Amino acid sequence: MTDEGELRREMADLCRSLFERGLAHGSAGNVSARIGNHILVSPTNSCLGRLDPARISKVTFRGEHVGGDKPSKEAPLHLGIYRERSDAGAVVHLHSTYATVLSCLAETDPDDAMAPITPYLMMRVGRVPMVPYHPPGSDALAEAVREKAGAHRAVLMANHGFVVAGKTFEDAVFNAEELEENAKLLVLTRGQRLRFLTSADIAALEAKFGKG
Ligand SMILES: [Zn+2]
Repeated sequence: MTDEGELRREMADLCRSLFERGLAHGSAGNVSARIGNHILVSPTNSCLGRLDPARISKVTFRGEHVGGDKPSKEAPLHLGIYRERSDAGAVVHLHSTYATVLSCLAETDPDDAMAPITPYLMMRVGRVPMVPYHPPGSDALAEAVREKAGAHRAVLMANHGFVVAGKTFEDAVFNAEELEENAKLLVLTRGQRLRFLTSADIAALEAKFGKG
């Protein structure tokens, strides 16, 4: 059983690290973690670089606010993922630069938004679909992501960023970092002839690490 105080401190520490490395800016991005029958969520308008562990919001699975500051407007996005994935212990949502570039490119394939060019995205996250643009914090966005979340650990959101689940908070953060790294490789190599993983390579990774 995870200690809630320890989990709150871990959330603040890892979010500060994401912020200091430029994976989050201003008040963009939000995170959550499951604790028993509740979800801890970063507060609305909070900066991931300066989360106060004691003020992280606490909500029920239905979204009722039971402690801490007012939760992020994007809390429904997180709750939909927990509803679909019993294996999700945490969810990280970022507007990190390269993943957001991919979410804005007209050529991005909504069914396979992030071609795996190294095995690592497949090993941690699996295939990543993209949902159409809906306003941040809207029910339409939360619903579109929820529909994909059962079969996919991560979802790219057009003109916005991405959301990814993990077994623990640290696992979700590592998944987010791997996703941003793969997006960076794709953006930096745009226009060059790439050798992608073959479908046989991908099938072997999916057999070993799961599909998402
Ligand atoms: Zn957002």
